[in-house]
Amino acid sequence: MRNATPVPIACDLFIGGRWTASETGRHIDVLDPSTEKTIGSVADATPADALRAVDAAAQAADGWAATAPRQRSEILRRCYELMVRDADALASLISRENGKALCDAKAEVLYAAEFFRWFAEEAVRIQGDIGMAPGGASRIVVQYQPVGVALLITPWNFPAAMATRKIAPALAAGCTCILKPATETPLTAYAVVRLLAEAGVPDGVVNVITSSTASKVSNAILEDRRVRKLSFTGSTEVGRILLRKAADAVINCSMELGGNAPFVVFDDADIDAAIDGAMVAKMRNGGEACTAANRFYVQRAVAAEFAQRLASRMGDLVVGDGVDPRTQCGPLVNAAAVAKVGALVDDAVRKGARILAGGRALERDGHFYLPTVLTDVPPDADLLGEEIFGPVAPVVVFDREEEAIALANATEYGLVAYVFTRDLARGLRVSERIESGMVALNRGLVSDPAAPFGGVKQSGLGREGAHHGMLEFMEAKYISVAW
Ligand code: ADP
Repeated sequence: MRNATPVPIACDLFIGGRWTASETGRHIDVLDPSTEKTIGSVADATPADALRAVDAAAQAADGWAATAPRQRSEILRRCYELMVRDADALASLISRENGKALCDAKAEVLYAAEFFRWFAEEAVRIQGDIGMAPGGASRIVVQYQPVGVALLITPWNFPAAMATRKIAPALAAGCTCILKPATETPLTAYAVVRLLAEAGVPDGVVNVITSSTASKVSNAILEDRRVRKLSFTGSTEVGRILLRKAADAVINCSMELGGNAPFVVFDDADIDAAIDGAMVAKMRNGGEACTAANRFYVQRAVAAEFAQRLASRMGDLVVGDGVDPRTQCGPLVNAAAVAKVGALVDDAVRKGARILAGGRALERDGHFYLPTVLTDVPPDADLLGEEIFGPVAPVVVFDREEEAIALANATEYGLVAYVFTRDLARGLRVSERIESGMVALNRGLVSDPAAPFGGVKQSGLGREGAHHGMLEFMEAKYISVAW
């Protein structure tokens, strides 16, 4: 190990406040994508282990729901403080198991911690409603109650933030939960849950299980009628499978799925700001983000300049081991990711795209693909229709505003879009017409715990963050009162 980490190198499951081996005693290896070396292992849960986690969450549910909101708030606030205290150690752990550059990992930890601070503040602002029925016979009293035991399934690209974005609102609302992180990056989830225990989260309120058979353990959990909520972040494909499964037990679902974000630059844009925004929107996390700019549509008069300047900035990035502090772009998560990105670039080039920067994998240990800019990308190139999830920026020229909107909307996804223009009226007009849950206008970043994050179309259901994020873990109770 090159850095101290707050977790042991081998982690058992965390169920009912205790570290416990899986039924079979089997483990899953965790690899460093920078070196392809094994850095640790986690227990491999079976469906029976998963049901033990449901037992623990169900037993803790009434007690946690009855806790005073102020008490939940103060525990969440301590979670925030402990994450900030341990930010460096957590960041190096994230870099090692995910590969992302240390600067990205540090930013992730602080972003992840902010969910605890935000929902600590929201926990004491659960408000209901009271009104007179139109007929005058009764009062309509509405109060919000925790939905119940929640299954939280998270991906590998933001191992800390995707967990806290779900755990914090669940706990603020009064729900108990079972977190199932991705097998690529499970150590971070166990590190976070250790901090939660230290912060005073009672036993059984947050349980963590890891498994090499994600579908079997999640099916067992979703078939248990004590489980009332599924919050999932991952691919649209897996999201659809889980929605089908959740339908059988009519489970309340929040789904953050794939994206294919357009990045639209009008010829009146501040090009310096657009380039800076593009670097963030494309290269945060090395492009492994569902919010990553996937398609760059640039108006003709500024297209050549934009593409050249973007290529020069992308070509200058320092590519290297995630944990090396000089690194600006780490490896992709695994070999399959490099193969997928390579195939998408090769397809575009075969169909006529020109490479302005990068365009190939690095010949060394680890899963590295060079930051890449493509221009003259033809409309039928696969990477315009698919989530690239890597450091590749395809640039396409457009002429008219209508055309830019049509191109931006020509996707089944609708998570986020980026728009750059100095004309605020145009910016707002275009933002309203783009089919996405979020728009960044003259910025390269939308993520903020205080804002409702989520998509439309095939990008998902529900919102995380803001007050909306907590309502996903609550249900309205209507009491009709004769007074
Ligand atoms: P990604 O493409 O980012 O790896 P996935 O959708 O494959 O996203 O995975 C996101 C999360 O969903 C991970 O925790 C993974 O283990 C889990 N997962 C994958 N397939 C299934 C499945 N069939 N049922 C339940 N969970 C799954």
